[in-house]
Amino acid sequence: MSALGLSRGTSGNVSARAGDGMLVTPSALSYEAMEPRDAVHLDLDGRTLEGDRKPTTEWPMHAALYNARPDIDAVVHTHAPFCTTLATLRRGIPAFHYMVAMAGGDSIRCAPYATFGTPELALAAVQALQDRRACLLANHGMVALGPSPQAALDLAVEVETLAEIYWRAIQVEEPARLTAEEMAAAMERFRTYR
Ligand SMILES: [Zn+2]
Repeated sequence: MSALGLSRGTSGNVSARAGDGMLVTPSALSYEAMEPRDAVHLDLDGRTLEGDRKPTTEWPMHAALYNARPDIDAVVHTHAPFCTTLATLRRGIPAFHYMVAMAGGDSIRCAPYATFGTPELALAAVQALQDRRACLLANHGMVALGPSPQAALDLAVEVETLAEIYWRAIQVEEPARLTAEEMAAAMERFRTYR
């Protein structure tokens, strides 16, 4: 995440579904210093099953997503700069580019603000991710979901790229939007593309 420009220092966190629980990144440890054994195995109520580290403070959001979304097995959360810029404006990403469909629909929503690490933020993320695989978190950052950590990471990179382009466009004016039919056609194309 650091090498891809999605994260600096210790911000952001990652998880993968593991059995009935999840493996999460530890709290307050830089990605450069992190090793596989630093991952913490938690059940979905936050109890440590294995690991010596303190889990990420954002574990309730990861747990809520695994509970709500049987279709996903990995969660990437970052404070990627362009996503976070839009999130501080409380603006989601509209259908200004067909690649928005990669996130599952014709928009990437921005969830309302809630304090980090709280069940309120977890609920806001679950709701903003309804029928989607990515969302922004107001005044905070972004979340990407996937069937694997690599897929969630790849989507996070796509969404940050879209956020950067959207941010550039709105310096000039609000960009043209694709119609519902045009986005549906892009989504249909993605379904048969891979
Ligand atoms: Zn965060």
